[in-house]
Amino acid sequence: MRIRGFFRQVADIFRVQEDQPDLIRAQVNALSRQIPLMYFLLTANALALSYTHYGAASDTMTIVIPAILSAVFFCRAIVWIKAGDKVDDLAADLMQLRRIRLVALIISVISSVWAVNLFSYGNPYQQGHVAYSMSITVVGCILCMLHFPPAAFIVVGVVLGSFVVHFGLSGNDVFVAIAANMALVSVVIVQIIRSYYAAFSELIASRRVLEEQHRTTQELSNQNRQLAHRDFLTGLANRRDFFHRLETMLAGADDTTRFAVAVIDLDGFKPVNDVHGHMVGDDVLVQAGQRLVTLSGGTSYFARLGGDEFGLIVDHYGNEADLTLLGQALCDVMKVPFETAGGPVHLSCSVGFATYPAVARTPTGLFERADFALYHAKKNNPGSPVLFAARHESLIRQESGIEQALRSADLDAELSLNFQPIFNLLDGTVLVNEALARWHSPVLGRVAPDVFFPLAEKTGQIGDLTRVLFEKLLVAMATWPDVERAAFNLSAQDITSLDRTQWLLERIHDHGLAPRRITFEITETALLRDFDAARQSIETLRQSGARVALDDFGIGYSSLRLVHELEFDSLKIDRSFTAPIARNPRSQRIVKTVFDMCDTMGIRCVVEGVETAEQRDILMQFGCRYAQGYFFAHPAVQPVFDNLTTLSSWRSNIAHGL
Ligand code: C2E
Ligand code: CA
Ligand code: CA
Repeated sequence: MRIRGFFRQVADIFRVQEDQPDLIRAQVNALSRQIPLMYFLLTANALALSYTHYGAASDTMTIVIPAILSAVFFCRAIVWIKAGDKVDDLAADLMQLRRIRLVALIISVISSVWAVNLFSYGNPYQQGHVAYSMSITVVGCILCMLHFPPAAFIVVGVVLGSFVVHFGLSGNDVFVAIAANMALVSVVIVQIIRSYYAAFSELIASRRVLEEQHRTTQELSNQNRQLAHRDFLTGLANRRDFFHRLETMLAGADDTTRFAVAVIDLDGFKPVNDVHGHMVGDDVLVQAGQRLVTLSGGTSYFARLGGDEFGLIVDHYGNEADLTLLGQALCDVMKVPFETAGGPVHLSCSVGFATYPAVARTPTGLFERADFALYHAKKNNPGSPVLFAARHESLIRQESGIEQALRSADLDAELSLNFQPIFNLLDGTVLVNEALARWHSPVLGRVAPDVFFPLAEKTGQIGDLTRVLFEKLLVAMATWPDVERAAFNLSAQDITSLDRTQWLLERIHDHGLAPRRITFEITETALLRDFDAARQSIETLRQSGARVALDDFGIGYSSLRLVHELEFDSLKIDRSFTAPIARNPRSQRIVKTVFDMCDTMGIRCVVEGVETAEQRDILMQFGCRYAQGYFFAHPAVQPVFDNLTTLSSWRSNIAHGL
């Protein structure tokens, strides 16, 4: 067993290790640089020996054999130089190593036989040269093949073996000493080769580990980069990726580049979250994302920009009509009800487009213009696409002019209040005077509240406006008869800030007014901005005795949950339902339904925007009690109070009308 084990160990020494491809590659690499040098050394040493022995030995020994050997060495060197360290596959590398082993064996045997034979021809000097030449050749070859021990060991075994045997048996003390010396040196050399090779393979192995670690780190950082650019919920690209992509597209744009950016916003999504909860809301967003991708057949780039807003980059389209068609298709696909755990959800979407290079040449420029077009779609044609056009550009400029004027405005001097009464249709008394803001800018002249309030919300100036206007109302009310009431409009920011609510109540208190004399009007859309904060504000206001009205009912989400969960004192049906009421049975039915609902819930119902006697009469027939509109009174600097003249003219009006 031991003997077999020993032979196996010996055989292992000469075996090519096949299981480590990178080690094999590194070996072939190192050898390809060193082996040509080795052949140079062998050629030089063979020529030197043949030179010193020329004449002493036969021509075959000193000319023919060295010439053949040199030619072989030269050819092999050329082959190696030509091969360089080009990357072959593993099989080719293995073949190469096996070939080196074989060539090393053949050359060692031939060279040793030749050298040992030469030895017998020469004088002691020449014999010394042979001994010297064999030893340094062996050491040189081993150094050149340090990276491939099987070949190095073959050289040591064959050359030194024959050397030691031959010299050891020569009977000459000097040569015996040299042989013993060489045997010792061989042992040391073998040991050095082994430890060098162990260090070399360890180095290669640790390099492999490092490379693997590097690869893993690289993969992780790729994954991280991917995650940083993905929207977690929908799996689409996220806002960051959207802008990154726009930047890349613009950086690579030339004269022929044309593409369009679209911003898509779901209409009616917010109440889905409020009514059905966030799980259903998330589900709808995921489905919406899938619909977008499916619609484009997976070819267009979609991103979720945040909330219920999506972005799209269209880089192949013919003309603007194509974009409108695409936008319409997007809107249509969103109109199909979403099946959710909370039941079917009905939504629509609006789309704004901006084209490159016609509309803007920067990512933010394109996005802002697409967003502006979206804002117009939502305002004027919800559920449809709008392409940013030249007229929008002038609107943007106009708006930014208004924003600037508002920023530098002396609010106290430029803002004022008009009052418009809400009447009790049955007896002609004034229920309340609604305070309506007026802004007269020295730069722009009169600016409509519909225009400047949304801008003030956008720029964050709304708080200042509310404070100035409310203060003006309180000052005005100090001069009113004690029984007269006012209504004051609050913006979304006012109603979602508890500080602002507290401030309003403090000011009422400081002016010594009874809170019940003031009704705060709040729109549905304002409530939906932050439902819980709005609920808290409404409760605080009502607890103080102030009243709260739901304004513009019917044009927002008209969610019953709002009316059900929040306690309102009154509800104002939006004026858009009043205008067609004489002709449109649908409007009539809606208004009637709201009246009934208010009756059931015990809250007052006010109809806005009554402009004609006909509208008033129809409304009265439906049981309408409170109304406001140009027919009764336009907003005016002076509020309208009950007095005998107004009441008697009222009665005659009613008698005449009915
Ligand atoms: P709103 O609260 O719905 O106010 C009623 C608007 O309808 C007023 O427009 C009023 O002039 C107009 N109106 C009244 N009767 C009729 C009518 O018979 N027909 C028509 N077509 N319109 C009528 P105004 O004063 O331009 O105000 C527009 C909006 O600006 C208001 O709508 C309100 O949302 C906002 N607003 C006005 N003043 C304030 C304020 O002090 N604070 C806040 N946050 N918003 C205000
Ligand atoms: Ca109002
Ligand atoms: Ca209103």
